[in-house]
Amino acid sequence: PLHWQGKHVTVAGLGVSGIPAAKVLHARGAIVTVVNDGDDARARAQAAELEALGVTVRLGDGATLPEGTELIVTAPGWKPDKPLFEAARAAGLEIWGDVELAWRLRGPDAAPWLAVTGTNGKTTTVQMLAAILKAAGLRTAAVGNIGVSLLDAVLGDEEYDVLAVELSSYQLHWAPSLRAHSAAVLNLAPDHLDWHGSMEAYAADKGRIYEGNRVACVYNAADKATEDLVRAADVEEGCRAIGFTLGTPGPSQLGVVEGILVDRAFVENRQKNAQELAEVSDVNPPAPHNIANALAAAALARAFGVPARAVRDGLRDFTPDAHRIAHVADVDGVAYIDDSKATNTHAAEASLAAYESIVWIAGGLAKGATFDELVTKSAERLRGVVLIGADRALIREALARHAPEVPVVDLDRTDTGAMLAAVQEAQRLAGAGDTVLLAPACASMDMFANYNKRGDAFAEAVRELGTDA
Ligand code: ADP
Repeated sequence: PLHWQGKHVTVAGLGVSGIPAAKVLHARGAIVTVVNDGDDARARAQAAELEALGVTVRLGDGATLPEGTELIVTAPGWKPDKPLFEAARAAGLEIWGDVELAWRLRGPDAAPWLAVTGTNGKTTTVQMLAAILKAAGLRTAAVGNIGVSLLDAVLGDEEYDVLAVELSSYQLHWAPSLRAHSAAVLNLAPDHLDWHGSMEAYAADKGRIYEGNRVACVYNAADKATEDLVRAADVEEGCRAIGFTLGTPGPSQLGVVEGILVDRAFVENRQKNAQELAEVSDVNPPAPHNIANALAAAALARAFGVPARAVRDGLRDFTPDAHRIAHVADVDGVAYIDDSKATNTHAAEASLAAYESIVWIAGGLAKGATFDELVTKSAERLRGVVLIGADRALIREALARHAPEVPVVDLDRTDTGAMLAAVQEAQRLAGAGDTVLLAPACASMDMFANYNKRGDAFAEAVRELGTDA
């Protein structure tokens, strides 16, 4: 219905979302200007590629609103208080993110979206969801914030019955007209507050995922804030609130009974009041937070009408991505686990809760977090701690306050050998039956290019221990 021909669209930001957006809009006849803050070699190369197509690119000036702009399409990470957006709002313009653009451009018979957000567990949950949908014989893909462009999924040649869509809080902020078939908010803990401005604003952006849901709004019964978002949402008539819990499920919930994942919300056989879905041991790894992810994925799949059997088959087919509670090796009776993806305290808390006697490797960039709650909740399971990275003093101080008896090694090193040193210290602190857990609760960029590289360095170091032994 939108007429793109001759429409002046400003695309904010080169990069993974901006380049495809600019190309698609240009191909539809829009007059596209890309504005970008940076002006480095990479940006110039990208600009040259777009300019060759006939797109205008302004490097080094992401603040000025180009004359004649009728619509802005922004990279999701651009902060709402940027001058460009203030100028756009003053001019009464709409601002769309990459998700909004994909939503608006999808065809009339496009596949419905099962959408997932939350502070932690999004990627794992959409991958589990896609595995379950595939086990049911549906054509699907895990797309969105997971690193697969929604625009590609929506406009590509591949045909889908349904999409498993991971959405970040930024993407949701910029997606005002998105209406999912069903959606889940897995959990809510402080993260990215500098971007959103406050916890309330962050929660409200996450809650956008429920707006206009047709079949089910899936919430975490152990996290009341997620249920509050369901209550606040304006949904289609007949849309149900469905909870998931690690305990015995209530009538409109999925939960766990004696080691079995059970669905009491979408029962296939009217004679029954609950449906058995899978065993806890079908979930990989069967850590509590991951069982919660599996229940959320199952709830969305069941909302789409998937039979119980496919939930089990899909969960069995699922293998987690690297650096998410990955078992690296056992050395001298000690298990070494890489959860480098635990880049915030909420994630680290979940992985620390999954083990009994832990030598914890932590530290990095704290991103403004505090560690008192994490340390208090985990103290009794800590056998020792090895601290690395720029903000390790914050964790050391929290340990001194709440777990003074736990031995701490404070490694004042950021060189390439630092991770090996950390693993060697952890080995010294650990005894047979313990787990050495890399769950940094911090971002990695002070010492590594990203969390993958940090996890790789850990695995490499563990392998060196193994050959010594
Ligand atoms: P996201 O896509 O939201 O970043 P991932 O599935 O990649 O989530 O998991 C990131 C990290 O968060 C994992 O390494 C694990 O430590 C932790 N995690 C996963 N699921 C949960 C959950 N349901 N609750 C808390 N922490 C979780």
